[in-house]
Amino acid sequence: MGLPVFHLRPRLIRALQGELLAVFAPLGWLAIQTFRGGSPLDILTQQADLFAYMLLGSLLAFGTFGWLLGKEQERLAQLATIDELTGLANTRHFRQRMSEFAHLSQRQGRPMSLLLVDLDRFKGINDTYGHQVGDMALKTAAEVIRSAVRRCDIAARIGGEEFALLLPDTGASEASHVAKRILRAFSQATVMTGDGREVVLSASIGVSGGVPSGQEATEDIFEDADKALYRAKAEGRGRMVMA
Ligand code: GH3
Ligand code: MG
Ligand code: MG
Repeated sequence: MGLPVFHLRPRLIRALQGELLAVFAPLGWLAIQTFRGGSPLDILTQQADLFAYMLLGSLLAFGTFGWLLGKEQERLAQLATIDELTGLANTRHFRQRMSEFAHLSQRQGRPMSLLLVDLDRFKGINDTYGHQVGDMALKTAAEVIRSAVRRCDIAARIGGEEFALLLPDTGASEASHVAKRILRAFSQATVMTGDGREVVLSASIGVSGGVPSGQEATEDIFEDADKALYRAKAEGRGRMVMA
């Protein structure tokens, strides 16, 4: 067991760093005054107001600056990890989390599962109804997937109309239940076009999982899910196949 790790939000970390810096301004002033002759205690008692003014002022200024900087840092970090259209994780973030989960899974000897979800005949939706309806369909698909996941799962858009769902601490049979649940949700998901037509969505899912072993573990899991997805397409779409 490792030490507990406390995750502080960047805005809090930056504000605390700011407060630390802030203390040095009045201390510097005190050092200069001391250097010019006189005991620090005398200077502090004689010029308590000035010292308090400097301390409070710099605490407020540096603290606020740090807080704002941290907020901006959080915003940029979010932009770097999220797919703009759907709000799901992007490919880079997904890959990174997947390799972290694989390490953990390997160490603990617990299984993890991967679902690759690809929309069926999506090009047809774009061609028939236009790109805007296509984008709406992608957002709806993301909602369907999002509503099927637990807090610890990672859902991502990893290609145009391809999604991935990583289920930590989940074996094959549980993963197949999740896939079936997603398929059921897709069978009820529709998108309305501007002129009132209803577009029906369908997806195929490839599922793979197990306890990752060795260096190539995440690539193997990915490849297995991809092959299973290919089979789901070949066998008629709108279904899931286990690797
Ligand atoms: P299959 O059932 O075999 O998966 O067929 P498909 O038409 O879904 O697959 P294909 O790979 O032929 O086409 C994917 C289409 O997805 C092509 C591309 O125009 C569309 N696409 C990719 N990214 C976006 C996007 O961000 N928005 C929209 N509207 N369409 C996109
Ligand atoms: Mg497709
Ligand atoms: Mg595709």
